[in-house]
Amino acid sequence: MSDISIDKQFHLKNRSIKNISELTFILETMEDYLYKEHVTKRKNDFSRWIREVFHKRDLAKKITKKSRKQTIRILKHYLKKYDVYETIIIGAGIAGMTAAIYASRKRMKFLIISTDFGGQINLTGPIENYPGFKQTNNMELLTNLESQLWYNNIKMNQGEDVKKIVKQKDGTFSIITSKAEYFSESIILATGARPRKLNVPGEEEMAGKGITYCAICDGPLYKNKIVAIIGGGNAALEAADFLINIAKKIYILNNKDELIANKILVEKITGQKKVEIIHNARTSRILGDKFVNGLKYEQKNREKHLKVSGIFVEIGRIPNTEFVKGLVDIDEDNHIKIDKQTSTSEQGIFAVGDCADGHEYQLIIAAGQGCMALLRAARYLARRHHHAT
Ligand SMILES: Cc1cc2nc3c(=O)[nH]c(=O)nc-3n(C[C@H](O)[C@H](O)[C@H](O)COP(=O)(O)OP(=O)(O)OC[C@H]3O[C@@H](n4cnc5c(N)ncnc54)[C@H](O)[C@@H]3O)c2cc1C
Repeated sequence: MSDISIDKQFHLKNRSIKNISELTFILETMEDYLYKEHVTKRKNDFSRWIREVFHKRDLAKKITKKSRKQTIRILKHYLKKYDVYETIIIGAGIAGMTAAIYASRKRMKFLIISTDFGGQINLTGPIENYPGFKQTNNMELLTNLESQLWYNNIKMNQGEDVKKIVKQKDGTFSIITSKAEYFSESIILATGARPRKLNVPGEEEMAGKGITYCAICDGPLYKNKIVAIIGGGNAALEAADFLINIAKKIYILNNKDELIANKILVEKITGQKKVEIIHNARTSRILGDKFVNGLKYEQKNREKHLKVSGIFVEIGRIPNTEFVKGLVDIDEDNHIKIDKQTSTSEQGIFAVGDCADGHEYQLIIAAGQGCMALLRAARYLARRHHHAT
């Protein structure tokens, strides 16, 4: 093997290493070079190359005194860690799944990592504003999405939480999860949001004992019971709409002097016989022993008491962005700051759906942003690969 090939190989340190097959190829080419003649010198060259490409002094050290067979085994094992994805999508709600469908159609090397499948779709119940469906529901939409993923041969790492993302010297990212570490050239953050809590006495103690954050999931347990919904926005009124044929009576405790939900929902819920709306009511305490039996609220500086068997908290969502603080810019509500094209403050990282600062949070918006992010990520990769060659 000539010096030209050494240059060629050393030159690789400036490129992003795309996948294991590329690395295996390099390794196999180097095998001959390494073990034909001047073994020590060449081993030193090789060791230097390893250090420069992987930024790993310990790995370079590890292989210097090993036999050919051992070296190849160590490196092949190590290379698995350097199997770099073109993009990793974090979150399998509508935003992440849309990005995945586009990634698959672009034949990208990608991975979805998600705690669950479906995200907030699981909580929605009836859906009447998703184009192409006059009326659908969470189950139908999830089933269709699942079969679309299957049709596109998309697999995901479900049940895995991303804990940390670290930018590498070569511009790629290390993604550390509850199970493993992955490497990617770009990232699409689609981690959505979780329910906001009341943070009042009794809430934590009664969690799972009559206080709930998902009417669709837990509503059926409250057949013929008196319940309270806390909130005055879309989620609260959608919960009321769902509970109307289940509960005996529904109080809606709204902390403002009017409801802020869509007009169509307000018209549907107000005036219903079973529903009593209490405005300017600030929930102050959850009551109960083995199970919730009431709540206290403040209204015009007076504390009042309501007897209820179930409490549905529907006061908004908190974006799941804690793990990227310090990596990308976040606004005062903890949403990831993005531009019109879903780029974050960090090159190569895009954010979409309810975790981003889109101001409006709907399925169609999250899906649209998922599509945009993937297309932008593909452009980013094309530029990056072009500069690397
Ligand atoms: C009760 C309710 C009713 C609604 N009704 C409607 C409606 O009728 N129409 C409408 O358009 N919209 C509705 N919405 C809003 C809509 O559901 C959301 O805007 C949309 O689902 C957001 O999608 P997303 O993909 O951005 O996030 P999510 O659906 O929240 O998905 C986020 C994903 O990220 C994963 N995740 C989070 N953190 C991590 C981590 N650290 N590591 C790995 N994975 C992680 C989660 O497990 C999840 O899979 C409703 C919402 C609620 C709560």
